Amino acid sequence: MSEHLLYQGKTGGWEVVIGLEVHAQITSKSKLFSGAATAFAAAPNDQVSFIDAGFPGMLPVLNKYCVEQAVRTGLGINAHINKISNFDRKNYFYADLPQGYQISQLYHPIVGEGYIDIDLEEEGTKRIGIERLHLEQDAGKSFHDQHPNKSYIDLNRAGIALMEIVSKPDMNSAEEAMSYVKKLRTILRYLGTNDGNMDEGSLRADVNVSVRRKGEFLGTRAEIKNINSIRFIGQAIIYETSRQVELLEDGKLVVQETRLFDPRSSTTRTMRSKEESQDYRYFPDPDLLPIILTDAYIDDIKKTLPELPDAKKDRLIDIYNLSVYMGATLVAEANVADFYEKGIEYLNDSIKGAKLLASWMVGDFFAGLNKDSLKLEESPVSVENLSGLINLIVDETISGRIAKDVFQEMWSSGKSAKEIVREKGLVQIADISSLKPIIDEILLENKDKVDQYKAGKEKLFGFFVGQVMKKTQGKANPGVVNKILKEKLG
Ligand code: ADP
Ligand code: MG
Repeated sequence: MSEHLLYQGKTGGWEVVIGLEVHAQITSKSKLFSGAATAFAAAPNDQVSFIDAGFPGMLPVLNKYCVEQAVRTGLGINAHINKISNFDRKNYFYADLPQGYQISQLYHPIVGEGYIDIDLEEEGTKRIGIERLHLEQDAGKSFHDQHPNKSYIDLNRAGIALMEIVSKPDMNSAEEAMSYVKKLRTILRYLGTNDGNMDEGSLRADVNVSVRRKGEFLGTRAEIKNINSIRFIGQAIIYETSRQVELLEDGKLVVQETRLFDPRSSTTRTMRSKEESQDYRYFPDPDLLPIILTDAYIDDIKKTLPELPDAKKDRLIDIYNLSVYMGATLVAEANVADFYEKGIEYLNDSIKGAKLLASWMVGDFFAGLNKDSLKLEESPVSVENLSGLINLIVDETISGRIAKDVFQEMWSSGKSAKEIVREKGLVQIADISSLKPIIDEILLENKDKVDQYKAGKEKLFGFFVGQVMKKTQGKANPGVVNKILKEKLG
């Protein structure tokens, strides 16, 4: 890794090492081992079956659809699908875990090693290893803030299917970790296996952080539990890094423990000492048979995978000559990529217009959506109209400068660029015979400056261009103006 990524302490540079355990709720109508519903924000304890409530004698029945979604996800993260996997009981007591154990997969997860490529603004593409993906149940939710001396339990979430996706300790900065979660979320949304709604808790991460001197063995890590925002993941890593480096530079040790992130102060604090897997007395769940998959089953799922973000990105970059960063930005959300490809269809010259359309989309267009807090589907400028504007720039009907104003007008009126340009007479002046007299006049009015220019003060060139733009209300074609001016002054 390059030097600039090292964290600078009092005594020199430190390498930060990060591994993430992401919990992704499987998009499924019913739970992993029961038929209870999974809809978000239902009334408390409205979606609980006897099995979710841990009633004695109830037997789990594996949800076939959830298995399929896990395999789909495994294929989407370039991972090995294990044809034999098994469920284990992870035993612990908590009031929102009525069974007294969580059904998970420790020894034989359904998905093995894979990887995700992330796109970084400066370093380019980096490959992050995936250790495993396993299936497990979620626990219920405890509420300690509803009553002065009672706690409440909502079991709606108990038994909902989760995929735990464990990365290798391959990330070295907050930026990389954030970019990893974003990319993973994008892939999950493309696959349709998780909705990626972090604020609803359906995607959350345990963040493992350690520091070391470059080239040394891995340091002792702290694990920050259950962070449900990408920004908070970044903040937690930044805080944790400086906390650990300070400890080590003061001659103290980092304790391996589980910590909590506090969003109000952007700091982390001790939650409990780290438990090991033997503390949970894991053993194979006797109520469940192993999951056995065939090659044909896996192949059938493979055939239904959509074009994934990396493939889409490579294709767009390849055809339209976009930068990697632009390609990555466009494919980050499937509906944005769709909008872009729809826009291409409306371009008269897709080779010349495609790059421009991309930069207008991520520029003024997104800025407008952000400013008015609108979703893409709610934009007052339709995809057809945005491409219409690009067409007018490409065929030089209007200049890029005028296009900015036209776009604002499109945004507020919903009209097409063509209509606005016609109504306001904004058509660009590009013919030499119209521009020459205007330029002659300006040169005549500024004789002193012309002399100075000819005497060597070349930066006055911009002044003359500016004058022409002023006189033509920005409508002059800058290329033609430059050409005429060069002739007249040279
Ligand atoms: P556990 O399940 O007990 O938390 P794992 O060994 O499965 O432990 O590791 C969980 C996560 O911690 C993985 O994402 C892994 O990459 C990461 N990790 C392991 N060791 C370190 C370390 N020294 N520094 C940072 N991350 C680490
Ligand atoms: Mg862990």
